[in-house]
Amino acid sequence: MKIYNTLTKKKEEFVPLEKGKVKMYVCGPTVYNLIHIGNARPMIVFDTIRRYMEYKGLEVNYVSNFTDVDDKIIKAAKEEGIDASTISERYILECKKDMASLNIKEATVHPKATEEIDSMLAIIQDLMDKDYAYKAQDGTVYFRVKKFQDYGKLSHKKLDDLEAGHREMKVTGDDKEDSFDFVLWKPKKEGEPFWHSPWCDGRPGWHIECSAMSRKYLGEEIDIHAGGEDLIFPHHENEIAQSEGANGKTFAKYWMHNGFLNIDNKKMSKSLGNFFTVRDVNQKYDPQVLRFFMLSAHYRSPLNFSEDLMEAAKNGLSRIVSSVENLRYLSEITVKWEMSEDEKKLMDEVKRFRLKFEEAMDDDFNTADAVSVIFELVKFINIHTSKENSRQYIDELVNEMEELTQILGIITKREKELLDQDIEDLINERQVARKEKNFQRADEIREELSKKGILLEDTREGVKWKRID
Ligand code: AMP
Ligand code: ZN
Repeated sequence: MKIYNTLTKKKEEFVPLEKGKVKMYVCGPTVYNLIHIGNARPMIVFDTIRRYMEYKGLEVNYVSNFTDVDDKIIKAAKEEGIDASTISERYILECKKDMASLNIKEATVHPKATEEIDSMLAIIQDLMDKDYAYKAQDGTVYFRVKKFQDYGKLSHKKLDDLEAGHREMKVTGDDKEDSFDFVLWKPKKEGEPFWHSPWCDGRPGWHIECSAMSRKYLGEEIDIHAGGEDLIFPHHENEIAQSEGANGKTFAKYWMHNGFLNIDNKKMSKSLGNFFTVRDVNQKYDPQVLRFFMLSAHYRSPLNFSEDLMEAAKNGLSRIVSSVENLRYLSEITVKWEMSEDEKKLMDEVKRFRLKFEEAMDDDFNTADAVSVIFELVKFINIHTSKENSRQYIDELVNEMEELTQILGIITKREKELLDQDIEDLINERQVARKEKNFQRADEIREELSKKGILLEDTREGVKWKRID
């Protein structure tokens, strides 16, 4: 399995630190709004990479954070006149619903920044002890960038070159030693959330949370660190400086970055206002179409979002699903049981599709080629199946299609629709569980319904629900 490593700018053979195990950290969203489909791209591609690794027999410890303390969250809270934590809790829940709709597996751990302040304080303290960090007069703690020799190794930037562009950047009144130094901890401001620290009451800078959570849940050295390519500089560069400065060890062996999702060839982003939320798109398409659309391109290539491409993805997906449905139908009506010699020969050909699929995925997770192999297999199935075939042959083809599509996180089984009555029954069960203070069961029910696209809302008049896809 080869992975393109941003650090070395090369495709490298993947060799895990510990045989059979993968420690993987993916930078997650800042939760102040519904996620847009650009945010969904890293979620979908790295989930697919995780699935492929698991298919290959690797045990993946997958950690992905929620940034739930940040200027944008505080601003959104002020606008609504509520607590920052109310905003972040709300959007974490909404984000989890969107992820479930896109069939993104839950991370092994989904830490939240506000619950990990202690580990952040610990790593900042280590940096202070090693002289990588210093406290300025107003209590702000900065990372001393020039002390970290390897600074720039990920983004392939040289401090000297940056220096030229940076010269004008020093803000007057700023008491940091050098304009490159970045914030690890900053003093509280009126009306903002804060925590106590040895330096001042305040809150963490953005970069430190990932170094801290990664160390806590995965250890000082990890296999893969991933995120969108906009994070290479400064976020990931700063994470390397923090983690390697504090731990004295190589932080991550492989750095993976997805390309942007664009619209009219411009990056889709909240600040530019040119975005669609996952929720918007789910109104119009089955969420699987969005997932399939994302996987139709290589994860490192830019991908332009358009109606035409979504329609093409919808049709492509429908060809795959229909082919499997047709096989299932044949399996029910066919009268022969055992595979004939001719069918065995055909199955040998089918094995070649599997090899081709793996070849594509082994080459830096080329899902675009992997999807083409699935289409080739669909074509093969359409030519080489009829009700004259044996059940064994048909069922093997079903298995083959299911295994390959599951690696991509595409579901070919049309699930039985939840009827309104089933939903009402589950809601009643949840109410009873809550009365009995069995909150675990109550949460399970909410989660189960959310996975099926049912949104619950607790209102004064009781529980209301609606379908979100
Ligand atoms: P943010 O909430 O902005 O920190 O973004 C969360 C994740 O989404 C990061 O990994 C970003 O790199 C990624 N991301 C944001 N916008 C896009 C986009 N238009 N295309 C691909 N990835 C994106
Ligand atoms: Zn991060």
